Amino acid sequence: MEVPGFAHPAPHAGFPEHEMFPQVAYEIVHDELLLDGVARLNLATFCTTWIDDQARRLMAESMDKNIVDADEYPQTAELERRCVRMLADLWHAPDPAATIGTSTTGSSEAAMLGGLAAKFRWRARGGTGTPNLVCGPVQVCWEKFCRYFDVEMRQVPLRGDRYLLHPDDLREHCDENTIVVVATFGQTYTGLYEDVAGMSAELDRIHDAGGPDIPLHIDGASGAFLSPFCSPEVVWDFRLPRVKSINASGHKTGLAPLGVGWAIWREAADLPRELIFDVDYLGGHIPNFNLNFSRSGSQAITQYYDFIRLGRTGYTRLQNAIYEVAQHFARGLAAAGPFELIHAAEPTKGIHAVAWRLTPGAHPYNLYDIADRLRTRGWLIAAYPLAPDRENETIMRAVFRHGLTIDMVDLLLADLRRGLTLLTENPRRLPLDRAHGGGFTHNATPETP
Ligand SMILES: *Cc1c(COP(=O)(O)O)cnc(C)c1O
Repeated sequence: MEVPGFAHPAPHAGFPEHEMFPQVAYEIVHDELLLDGVARLNLATFCTTWIDDQARRLMAESMDKNIVDADEYPQTAELERRCVRMLADLWHAPDPAATIGTSTTGSSEAAMLGGLAAKFRWRARGGTGTPNLVCGPVQVCWEKFCRYFDVEMRQVPLRGDRYLLHPDDLREHCDENTIVVVATFGQTYTGLYEDVAGMSAELDRIHDAGGPDIPLHIDGASGAFLSPFCSPEVVWDFRLPRVKSINASGHKTGLAPLGVGWAIWREAADLPRELIFDVDYLGGHIPNFNLNFSRSGSQAITQYYDFIRLGRTGYTRLQNAIYEVAQHFARGLAAAGPFELIHAAEPTKGIHAVAWRLTPGAHPYNLYDIADRLRTRGWLIAAYPLAPDRENETIMRAVFRHGLTIDMVDLLLADLRRGLTLLTENPRRLPLDRAHGGGFTHNATPETP
């Protein structure tokens, strides 16, 4: 056997001809991955990067169970159903035991399902024109939904000093072909919550004045697992009758490992029957309404573990602690340089993230330079342009998560201060108006992997 290593490179392109020992293959793969960033130091992501031993064990024990085979793995299916009921309860569905929902691969799939249900309901109401969806600066999954499923996307541009979709934006953009308004509860760009109650009231007014009756879908990818615990006075969920569906990422603030999201409808009737397939070739009759089919049950199982392990008191304690760590960072940041805070991790205003920009005026560096400096120490923090029509402005955002201690944040702040000193003493040679270069987020929409 020809052993790759020093003398021969590992296969890269054509399908490999020969076999090798698993230890060797493992070492090759393992070593190459050393060049990835360290997930725990990645403050650009919203996703879970700290997983306890019990959750790791459950993941490993259940990775061979296919969640779609509810007949063969009835207890996996049961745990998923319990999670759906628990979330319906957490988000104040009128009858949590009777509503309908599903685990998904993440918020993106859950958003597609919520959007599709809205499109089918609109058609059932007699909609015949070109369907449209009204939203503010949304995560890329909504652009995908609109393109993949032929829906006109009416993304309201940011006006003046606004970072969010506002209730008073709706009237001008909604009409009888608006299938749904998507409110982002924990916005990708800034972490801020959109005013869901205000939008609901405005849609009530539009309807009361003889206009269309437009439902709300809440993209609660990260806010849906925070507000119920840390800002319960904010009304954004099924307490508002106009909210027909909610998506959330279990693998973000839900604290589950990567690979799980949730889509929950207010009432069973809000998910059109045509979207539900009754699958009988797995044994029994299994309702299925996902975009994909086979996948591991381990993420939903581990999510159930998180729910019973932490409960309301545990989630509240943990998430509040993360808010405190984020606020500690925000204070240190404001003291460190010419920064203007857009979101300082206030629980009633948004998720436990901090978003900032440079104060107006000339500076010897821009935000991409700061991201570059921090990266030399392993910290991954994104700088990126805002959404239209403010895409000429750059901001930066750090998402704080379970597993990042206050000591680590102090080290981050020390690295930030060192980086700023270095940048000030060695002014950059590249033109300062370099628009979107550098850093590691080049997309119009900030990535939220
Ligand atoms: C992360 C995110 C998504 C996409 O969620 P995935 O779980 O990564 O598929 C959608 N919307 C918002 C607001 C997000 O933050």
